Amino acid sequence: MAQKVRVRFAPSPTGPLHIGGLRTALFNYLFAKKHQGDFVLRIEDTDQNRFVEGAEAYITESLNWSGIPYDEGPEKDGGYGPYRQSERKHLYIRYADELLASGKAYYAFDTSEQLDAHRKDHEANGKTFIYNWHNREKGRLVNSLVLSEEEVASRIASGEPYVVRFKSPQDRILELKDIIRGDMRIDTNILDDKILFKSDGMPTYHLANIVDDHLMEISHVIRGEEWLPSLALHVLLYEAFGWASPEFAHLPLILKPVGKGKLSKRDGDKLGFPVFPLEWTDPKSGDVSRGYKEDGYFAETVVNFLALLGWNPGTEQELFSLEELVSSFDLARVNKSGARFDPEKTKWFNHHYLQTKLDLELAESFKSHTSALADIDINYVALIVGLIKERATFVSDFWDLSSFFFEAPVDYNPKALKKGFKEETADILQQVIHIITRTREFTAQNLEAKIKDWITDQGIGFGKVMMPLRLALVGDLKGPDVFDIMFMIGKNECVKRLDTFLEVAQA
Ligand code: GLU
Repeated sequence: MAQKVRVRFAPSPTGPLHIGGLRTALFNYLFAKKHQGDFVLRIEDTDQNRFVEGAEAYITESLNWSGIPYDEGPEKDGGYGPYRQSERKHLYIRYADELLASGKAYYAFDTSEQLDAHRKDHEANGKTFIYNWHNREKGRLVNSLVLSEEEVASRIASGEPYVVRFKSPQDRILELKDIIRGDMRIDTNILDDKILFKSDGMPTYHLANIVDDHLMEISHVIRGEEWLPSLALHVLLYEAFGWASPEFAHLPLILKPVGKGKLSKRDGDKLGFPVFPLEWTDPKSGDVSRGYKEDGYFAETVVNFLALLGWNPGTEQELFSLEELVSSFDLARVNKSGARFDPEKTKWFNHHYLQTKLDLELAESFKSHTSALADIDINYVALIVGLIKERATFVSDFWDLSSFFFEAPVDYNPKALKKGFKEETADILQQVIHIITRTREFTAQNLEAKIKDWITDQGIGFGKVMMPLRLALVGDLKGPDVFDIMFMIGKNECVKRLDTFLEVAQA
C-alpha cells in the first residue's frame, strides 16, 4: 500500500446510530490503526429534511464511549475540513459544473408530476420507468440532451427548478472490485441516470460522497452492504472526473437472531436487547430507546461482539481486546454472507469483561446505582464485589447476589427451611452460636477451622450444620462461601441473625 491509508466513517445524522453503523465505524477504525492510517469522521448532512437534532452528538459520543475516537472530523481538524457536508456546500457546484461541461452530466427539468405520469404509463404497460440511456434522448423527457442550448439557458435564467443527472454510459460492461466480494461485472445499461445536484444548491449523496472522498484523499471505502448497488455509479463518477478510485469493501448485513432479514429495533424490543450503543431520546416523540451502555454492557463487550459480526480471526479465539483486534484485523477475513446477531453471546462477553474490572471500580458503579449503599464504605463494598462478581453478568446483578451482606434477611425461603430445619437444628445452631462467640480472631479461615473441627468431633453430617447456618445468614441456600459471609458481616451480626432465625423457625 503505497498511499497512506485514510478511511472514513460517513454517517448521516438522521437518528441514533444503530449497532450496524457502529460496526462499520469499528471496522474502519481497526483497518486504519492496523495500517497506521487515519480514521476520519464525516457527517453527511446534505438532506436537511432528514436532519435530527442531537444525532451528530450521539454519533461522536458513541465513538468515544466505544473507545474508537476519530483522528479527524468535526471539531478535530486534520487539514481536510470542514467535515460536515452542510459546511462544504460551496464546493459541490463546481464539480457538477465540471461534469456538465464535459458532457458527462446533463440538466433535467422534468417536474415530479411529469415523472409520476411516466411511471404510471409504464406501470399500465407492465413496465418500470427508469430515467436512462433508453429514453433520455427520445423527446418525452425534458432535459439538456434534447433542448437547445438557448432554451436550457433561458429556463435556468428564469429560475425554473432543475436537477443535474449523471449520463450513465451505454453498452459497457463495468468491472468492479470489492475487497470482500471479489470481482463483479455490471452492464451499464441497467443503470439509471442518478441525480447529482439540485437547483437549490444541494448535491445528492452520490456527488457529495465522491467529491469528499476524493478531496479528503480517502484510500479505502469500508461501508455497509446496502451501498453496494451504488458502487457502479461511484466508480463511473471517479472515471468521469478522471480521478483514481479508492478501494472498496462492503460489509455483510447483521441478521436477526432468528428468522430472515436484517437486525432491526423491533427485534431488540421483542427479544429484550438494545440495538443502539447509547440510550436515545427521540427529540420529537420523546420515545426512549435503550442503549448498551445504560443496560450495563461495557464498551469492551460491544467492541468485541461487533468485531465478530462478519469478521473471523481464522482461529478459535473469541475474546479480543481492542489492541488485539487492531493487530489481527484483516478485511480478507470478512465474510460475504450476513452475520447473525446473538444476544446471549453478548451477555457472555459482558460476564467475561466484568471479571476483568477492578473491584473498586465496580463497587463505585454498584454504589452509584444502589441507594441502600449510600452510607457504606467503598472499600467494604469492593470486598463484597470481589466475592460475588463471578456470578454476575452486569453490575445490576450485584444487589440480588449480595443484599444479605448489607441487610439481614427478612424472610427465609420456605422450601429451604423445610429442608434445612430439622428437630436437632436448634441445638446445633445454639452450639454454633457458642463457637462464634468464643472465636476471638474472627477471620473466615479461623471460623472455618473451628466450625469444621467441631463438626468432625461431633460426627454430625456437614449439611446439617452448614445448611441452616447459611439459611440463617442469607435467607436462602445461595451466596458465596459461608465463612466469607460471616467474616464480612461480623460477629455480632452473625449471632443476631442466628437468634432471629431460631425464633422464626421455632415459632
Ligand atoms: N451517508 C451514508 C450513510 O449514511 C454513507 C455511505 C458511505 O459510506 O458511502 O451510510
